Amino acid sequence: MPVNKEAYKSIIDQLPAGTTLVAVSKTKPVEDILALYELGQRDFGENYVQELLDKQVTLPADIRWHFIGHLQSNKVKNIVPFVHLIHGVDSLKLLQEIDKQSKKINRTTNILLQVHIAREESKFGLDENELDEILNSDFLQQEKYQHISICGLMGMATFTEDPDKVRAEFKNLKRLHDKYNKSLSNFSILSMGMSSDFKIALEEGSNMLRIGSLLFGARNYS
Ligand SMILES: *Cc1c(COP(=O)(O)O)cnc(C)c1O
Repeated sequence: MPVNKEAYKSIIDQLPAGTTLVAVSKTKPVEDILALYELGQRDFGENYVQELLDKQVTLPADIRWHFIGHLQSNKVKNIVPFVHLIHGVDSLKLLQEIDKQSKKINRTTNILLQVHIAREESKFGLDENELDEILNSDFLQQEKYQHISICGLMGMATFTEDPDKVRAEFKNLKRLHDKYNKSLSNFSILSMGMSSDFKIALEEGSNMLRIGSLLFGARNYS
């Protein structure tokens, strides 16, 4: 299936100022990424480390790569040299590993904390208490971490036909984001909204969309 350039242009037209579209290219070939690159797209998202590494070496160096999957600690060192933003950080342990590996190469890595906002599905992410714990932890307070920058929050709504439920979950994430954005500097990113729910996400204050199938067609995991 060819890349849907019309859908791409229409989303770009709807984007409020200051909002970033991450084109989620997981499972899709490099030709598809280049098709959007030629239209000016620079932010791309992947959720498997090996696939990201393979694509990164062949594609233009000015692409900003977003890691949106569940990151295993032992793979952190492979992506910190180039990754633009890691969206799915959901433990202090992972945070510390990112800091450690970034320190080794004298880089600061941008990350988002993933919050579990979907009520029914079990998805990765922190609950509000765990988020409090991390953001108030000694690790952060004592500024031992010099090599990560926590840029905001990321979440995924329940996969449902019920827009009210999705909206309520996004509202909750926005509330948490506002709560911390007041006291933390550099916490401005709120990554929420995918192909099926990005319009609701924009209405609820998202400033970073992660859109895959609407741009690249359905994924085939065979
Ligand atoms: C796959 C994925 C997306 C994109 O999903 P679509 O429904 O194809 O737009 C967004 N965020 C995350 C974390 C994903 O894994």
